Amino acid sequence: MPVNESMVQDIVKEVVARMQLSGTAQSAQHGVFNDMNQAIEAAKEAEKTVRRMTMDQREQIVSNIRKKTHEAAEILARMGVEETGMGNVGDKILKHHLLADKTPGTEDITTTAWSGDRGLTLIEMGPFGVIGAITPCTNPSETVLCNSIGMIAAGNTVVFNPHPQAIRTSIFAINLVNEASLEAGGPDNVACTVFKPTLETSNIMMKHKDIPLIAATGGPGVVTAVLSSGKRGIGAGAGNPPALVDETADIRKAAADIVNGCTFDNNLPCIAEKEIVAVDSIADELMNYMISEQGCYLISKEEQDKLTATVLTPKGLNRKCVGRDARTLLSMIGIQAPENIRCIVFEGEKEHPLISEELMMPILGLVRAKDFDDAVEKAVWLEHGNRHSAHIHSKNIDNITKYARAIDTAILVKNAPSYAALGFGGEGFCTFTIASRTGEGLTSTSTFTKRRRCVMSDSLCIR
Ligand code: NAD
Repeated sequence: MPVNESMVQDIVKEVVARMQLSGTAQSAQHGVFNDMNQAIEAAKEAEKTVRRMTMDQREQIVSNIRKKTHEAAEILARMGVEETGMGNVGDKILKHHLLADKTPGTEDITTTAWSGDRGLTLIEMGPFGVIGAITPCTNPSETVLCNSIGMIAAGNTVVFNPHPQAIRTSIFAINLVNEASLEAGGPDNVACTVFKPTLETSNIMMKHKDIPLIAATGGPGVVTAVLSSGKRGIGAGAGNPPALVDETADIRKAAADIVNGCTFDNNLPCIAEKEIVAVDSIADELMNYMISEQGCYLISKEEQDKLTATVLTPKGLNRKCVGRDARTLLSMIGIQAPENIRCIVFEGEKEHPLISEELMMPILGLVRAKDFDDAVEKAVWLEHGNRHSAHIHSKNIDNITKYARAIDTAILVKNAPSYAALGFGGEGFCTFTIASRTGEGLTSTSTFTKRRRCVMSDSLCIR
């Protein structure tokens, strides 16, 4: 459904009214403008104030964003699912709590020092100013909030050009960030956007003289656009993560981990398992566990063809299928699956379109490999050189090392569901912007800083 400006305003009002009822918000529509130039101007004004704030004051804003994200997790999750039709509310609630707890703040800013006979030299991490951020419809408020925490903790302000299909949810999150800032004694407009983001507003942002850095989270088109802008770009692009299973793995656990990772938020996360490569000797056992214990539905060749025609149109991915649950997808090809079904499985060649394409749906094709080396070769092919994410279930550290070197991805999860990479059931911090293409990897506050060398010659060394 096309969304116009007055509709967006009505919906924002309605949601804010709902929030006021629940005591979550006091006011409405901070940081939202009709025009991209106005949005950038407002973020620039706010940045002048943020620049003068202490690290402690920035941290107070960040803490308040965390608190408000926890409070609004359910509303944000429901809005995201209602507006985009993608994902599921329960998992989206978890994602919001995760980002609120585990996205790094100002503690991520560190200093490197050298001191000696010729004095003291520091590398300090300073802000860029106003950052432009482009965000996806698959994790809309998650990305806005996660980017805002890191970018503001680093001393910047941010202008978003969110995905038009997720504008209501994104505006709600941007509003939350500004309220958090105001309540913590910071300025309004630390995060800004426009009512109606388009490719044109995105271009204005990318070309604007006051935007020195652009962070793009999305598919290959947007990352290429940002990297062609002439500005410094952080490119968090597409993936197609394979899960490799060898004969040394705990096969039963591998089946559970892979299906849990694949079905999380209906497979929307870019890091989620998108296909399996299993060595021949354990492939049948793995498939059996997935079907008998993990709610997987095995489709026939004919059903695969129907599903392929439904999911992949001549113009590309059918957006009506992205982020839908397995039973809905099955119903689209005339199968009424039992309630416990959460994933669709089949065996196929690596070239099968439901295997080689990044689908973002709970569909797992299993590719059989004759041995480990063959499995690595197939998995590397399936990752398409995105260098994004890959997973392995194995107890052989030589195999794991060989795979890690060959596939060379920003994320490699061993013996766990993919979401362990986001700190969910794994160690480490959370992000929803994984800069696979430009090499920063999992972004955090320090990613949104520039390095500055401060040199004191011949003094301040007291060794
Ligand atoms: P998308 O590429 O359709 O849109 C992402 C954003 O880019 C949107 O705001 C969209 O309006 C904008 N955009 C698209 N083409 C553009 C262009 N040519 N110029 C300027 N802006 C443009 O992606 P989506 O469907 O919203 O999200 C899913 C994709 O994003 C998947 O490929 C997924 O792997 C990827 N993704 C990557 C990460 C990561 O951290 N690497 C995180 C989430 C999603």
